[in-house]
Amino acid sequence: MAITHNLGFPRIGAKRELKFALESYWKGESTLDTLRAVGAELRARHWQDQAGLDLVPVGDFAFYDQMLDMSFTLGHLPERVRGVTGDVLDTYFRVARGRSAPAAEAQAGCTCGVAAGEMTKWFDTNYHYIVPEFTAATEFELDASRLLEQLAEAQSQGVNAKPVIIGPVTYLALGKSKDGSDRLALLDRLLPVYAELLNRLAAHGVQWVQIDEPILVTELDEAWRHAFEIAYHELKTAPVKLLLATYFGELQDQGYLAAHLPVAGLHIDAVRGRDDLAPLLNLLPSTKILSLGVIDGRNIWKTDLNAVLDWLEPIQDQLGERLWIAPSCSLLHVPVDLDSEQTLDPEIRSWLAFARQKLDELRVLARALNQGRETVRAELDANRAAIDSRRQSPRVNNPEVKASLTRIDARWGQRQSPYAERAAKQAGLLNLPEFPTTTIGSFPQTGEIRQARRQFKAGAIDEATYVGIMRGEIARCVREQEALGLDVLVHGEAERNDMVEYFGEQLAGFTFSQFGWVQSYGSRCVKPPILFGDVRRPKAMTVDWITYAQSLTEKPMKGMLTGPVTILNWSFVRDDQPRSVSCRQLALAMREEVLDLERAGVRVIQIDEAALREGLPLRRSQWKGYLDWAVECFRITANGVTDETQIHTHMCYSEFNDIIASIAEMDADVITIETSRSDMELLDAFDDFSYPNAIGPGVYDIHTPNIPSEAHMVELMRKAAERIPSQRLWVNPDCGLKTRQWNEVIPALTNMVAAAKTLRTGL
Ligand code: GLN
Ligand code: ZN
Repeated sequence: MAITHNLGFPRIGAKRELKFALESYWKGESTLDTLRAVGAELRARHWQDQAGLDLVPVGDFAFYDQMLDMSFTLGHLPERVRGVTGDVLDTYFRVARGRSAPAAEAQAGCTCGVAAGEMTKWFDTNYHYIVPEFTAATEFELDASRLLEQLAEAQSQGVNAKPVIIGPVTYLALGKSKDGSDRLALLDRLLPVYAELLNRLAAHGVQWVQIDEPILVTELDEAWRHAFEIAYHELKTAPVKLLLATYFGELQDQGYLAAHLPVAGLHIDAVRGRDDLAPLLNLLPSTKILSLGVIDGRNIWKTDLNAVLDWLEPIQDQLGERLWIAPSCSLLHVPVDLDSEQTLDPEIRSWLAFARQKLDELRVLARALNQGRETVRAELDANRAAIDSRRQSPRVNNPEVKASLTRIDARWGQRQSPYAERAAKQAGLLNLPEFPTTTIGSFPQTGEIRQARRQFKAGAIDEATYVGIMRGEIARCVREQEALGLDVLVHGEAERNDMVEYFGEQLAGFTFSQFGWVQSYGSRCVKPPILFGDVRRPKAMTVDWITYAQSLTEKPMKGMLTGPVTILNWSFVRDDQPRSVSCRQLALAMREEVLDLERAGVRVIQIDEAALREGLPLRRSQWKGYLDWAVECFRITANGVTDETQIHTHMCYSEFNDIIASIAEMDADVITIETSRSDMELLDAFDDFSYPNAIGPGVYDIHTPNIPSEAHMVELMRKAAERIPSQRLWVNPDCGLKTRQWNEVIPALTNMVAAAKTLRTGL
């Protein structure tokens, strides 16, 4: 009998109930009891959704983040909240979100302001966790209350509970040392707490515990591999069975290590790590369970159940009772329920599976394995029909798009002349001062803008009215920028809901769900576009807005686009062709837009690649492959223009050390990046590499309402000029201004323009 289980379920709720409950509590509009009740209700509902599986995860629910939950379980709170009184959930939110000291108390010397915990991406997902902070003095102390409460809750509901925890090695590996001390030195102190936790769970009737060690799919050095040996030898006496769960990639040469750790079972990602299986079947001791994650927990497509069975049946013959099946990873990374969708095209919908539907697939697979395919013939036939329909659909396959990919020529990615020659021509035409000023694209998205967009989508106002309102916003934006004295203007992006969705909505090959939300961090969710077919641009997407904006000013107006790599990385993408192919299709579509803008007389075009870095594969050995096609796609998009057209790109970060050569290869005339919080030290990567083109290091941190002073920005630019020749420096904010208010933006940009003027009088 193949056993079925799940690694984790999305906790945000099919209608984002958790998000709304959290935000209402944070605003003081509801009580902690209400919030707790919503949590319990969601857990109960989600356990129901998983009914019929042999083992159901418990402890995967979190009010904010699973890593932060683990930190609390391990009694490992940042120094800054220790001794804080009040409800533990409030302390928890304080670590997650920070809390600024009320002005009066701050003056009185009160230290109740608390910095938010640092967040970072969970492996290569778009989920962000709160980074544990370590020092040499870090101590741990078990607080099993959260897990035990949820366990009791599950048991009282008849759930066959399998508690889920993050393993000790991954926990240490994902944390950060605050004092430069070695995190691994803490392992000795950490393990007894894990042992005690496992004992407590056993005492409450738990048989299996899922212990997540996804760090095993990344490259580990000898010390970290050794940590695995130490950790699991120490935990092997615990009176529970451990299922060591890895996911998001291949174990590769760490397969041997994983197979031989003294645990009762191993879970692998059989979607991304299928090649691990053959060696593992030989390596795995005959006493161990092997759990295969055969349903893609990272994407929204139906599983080809017949194909999976063809693959699984021989494995089942070999493993017998030792075979478990599951989704590849926690379903946290997919939306909850396809049944919520009312407006999806029925054909496309028939190709999709969200979390609940993925568990249905799992149940079908288990019945086919355990009772024979005939017992689920109808389900398997329906699945085959859906898979075939997707494979053959003319909406997916566009021969013209496929043909145009074969015509791509190396010269398409090549500018006419080297940077220095282009820069000279552009300078003559654009006539910009030294230290030119610009912004990253968006201006405040006011309530009126959002309301107009909602009304237009709902059909409450007609297109002419909507365009009129947007043009009004553009005009305001241009007026303000002229008054500020900025050098290269933008139209402000009022018409854009989101920098990816806006283009996805206009490109053939994309569709959108109504409730396809995925947690990004805390209460924040994203609704990624669904890229299902060959990409084509039916018509120009931005030219009318930009030419209108240009008509209002003598100053150069920047055309504003999102780059192909970012569109790809922020969407659910096709699994029937390599990402690189989808990206090239996007590149061709966006290239047409660039050329249309140029033809319309737009002299400066910015192509945002905010998500280029986050597409990096988990293993460094695979970085080059990704960067090669990602850079090629940017070049195809951008570099078809004449020397006179100035190409900008923007990236919302500044860690370029590892990828600086690729950034240089993109060959944008100007790159604007986020640097204000790093005191310009992160420009060292550009300096060391002798980066040849122009750079706009952000001097205004747009993530806070604080107004940066002129002196501060001058100071930052002086530091920048120690690293980059001043003729190649631009002055701009860190990122777009859409989340700010006009009354913050105006004084900040006034100071920024003043800073540029000061710089022009001499450094
Ligand atoms: N042009 C976009 C904006 O200004 C860029 C946003 C981003 O980089 N995330 O909003
Ligand atoms: Zn940005």
